[in-house]
Amino acid sequence: MPAAGEQKIAVIGAGIVGISSALYLQRAGFAVTLIDRDEPGHGASFGNAAALAPHAFVPINSPSIPRRLLPLLFASGSPLSIDWGYAPRMLPWLLSFLSHCRPAEVTRIAQAMHTLLSRNLDHALPLFRESGADRLMRGGGYLHLYESEAAYHSSAGEVTLYKRLAGDVEEIDAAEIRRLEPNLAPVFVRALYFHSALHYLSTVEVCATLVRHFRANGGCFLRDEVRTLDARPDGRIRVAGTQDGIYDQAVLAAGAQARRLFGGAVEKLPLETERGYHVMFGKQAGIISRTCSSATAGFAMTPMSDGLRCAGMVELAGLDKPPNPACHAYLDRTARRFLPDIREAPSSTWMGFRPSMPDALPVIGRSTRTTNIILAFGHQHVGMSSGCITGAIVADIAAGRMPPIDITPFSPARF
Ligand SMILES: Cc1cc2nc3c(=O)[nH]c(=O)nc-3n(C[C@H](O)[C@H](O)[C@H](O)COP(=O)(O)OP(=O)(O)OC[C@H]3O[C@@H](n4cnc5c(N)ncnc54)[C@H](O)[C@@H]3O)c2cc1C
Repeated sequence: MPAAGEQKIAVIGAGIVGISSALYLQRAGFAVTLIDRDEPGHGASFGNAAALAPHAFVPINSPSIPRRLLPLLFASGSPLSIDWGYAPRMLPWLLSFLSHCRPAEVTRIAQAMHTLLSRNLDHALPLFRESGADRLMRGGGYLHLYESEAAYHSSAGEVTLYKRLAGDVEEIDAAEIRRLEPNLAPVFVRALYFHSALHYLSTVEVCATLVRHFRANGGCFLRDEVRTLDARPDGRIRVAGTQDGIYDQAVLAAGAQARRLFGGAVEKLPLETERGYHVMFGKQAGIISRTCSSATAGFAMTPMSDGLRCAGMVELAGLDKPPNPACHAYLDRTARRFLPDIREAPSSTWMGFRPSMPDALPVIGRSTRTTNIILAFGHQHVGMSSGCITGAIVADIAAGRMPPIDITPFSPARF
């Protein structure tokens, strides 16, 4: 393999993971082409809840899920829903998901994610500072809110993990919640206050700013839809879309859509999507000061430059179905219950695709089928909080260097 400085590498996907990979590969001396069928940051990295949350290591796999899954799926007004027509296709993923809900497994996943998330800022801040994207980041922490003592106590497992692993968590009462966020309705009795979380004022503008910086430093951004990845006899990779390119290595960072490129040079992995939704209230940018999430409502609210974003929910319905208006209605209704001063209709709505593995751990590593393809997807609910360190890891793998953390838990070979 030639030295990094003589190697051409393609990164497929310009979400937070692909963009960070492109920037770290560029720093390592590779000639990088970043390819997306859309403008940068228009996938899941566009419409998420915009929290950069080092504490978000507790997976949604939880020991109580096997008992609660069916009631949650059948309840009306639930943050979790399934398209029953799609359910048979999801069954293997769901069964695997349930097998990762055992308490010991949840602790293992939380520990691996804690290692990734707790080091992300070390790799995000340099990119944000040197590109100027730091002007689009705000501190202020993150409130995870409970509406009743019963809700708090039924989350004892996750609270224990937060207290054990997060170095910045404080438990606060209703009076302190009110002092921090006076516009919240007095429906919350307790919260976990994570002091070191940040939020993005504009997720899409951070992505665009990072890509402008990448291009200013000689990187190539190519707008194209990749249709196949092929390993050539000489080991190089043919990346084929409407234009073909031959690269020494390729990084597959196409989020939930990565699975459309499985088969051939890339092994089939159990990548699914947990669809998520948001509604924006354009006039409410100042109504809260930090990301506030409800432990039971299944979404978070974040003050952003273009208004208040209420984002979350999980819908299991694959990549092809149109958005479900009932999910937007749920977010609209529940956000007003939490913030009664919101009087206007949502200014915009969105649906997007979380890339999710059944064990809630991303895939970061060389393909088991084609050595010169590096896989970087599956960041499910926390890609905005772990994408930048993933980029640094990808560059280390490509350059044959030791990554900053143990990446064994994220190996593609684990399936
Ligand atoms: C409702 C919701 C709320 C969330 N809230 C948070 C949060 O508060 N904090 C947090 O950390 N995370 C959050 N997440 C998760 C986070 O958004 C994702 O984990 C993250 O954005 C994934 O980034 P990615 O780069 O892997 O994928 P994406 O951002 O989806 O990027 C993949 C890119 O690949 C491109 N692509 C796909 N296929 C091809 C192809 N064949 N050819 C060319 N290009 C292709 C797409 O166009 C896209 O731009 C949330 C997600 C959702 C849906």
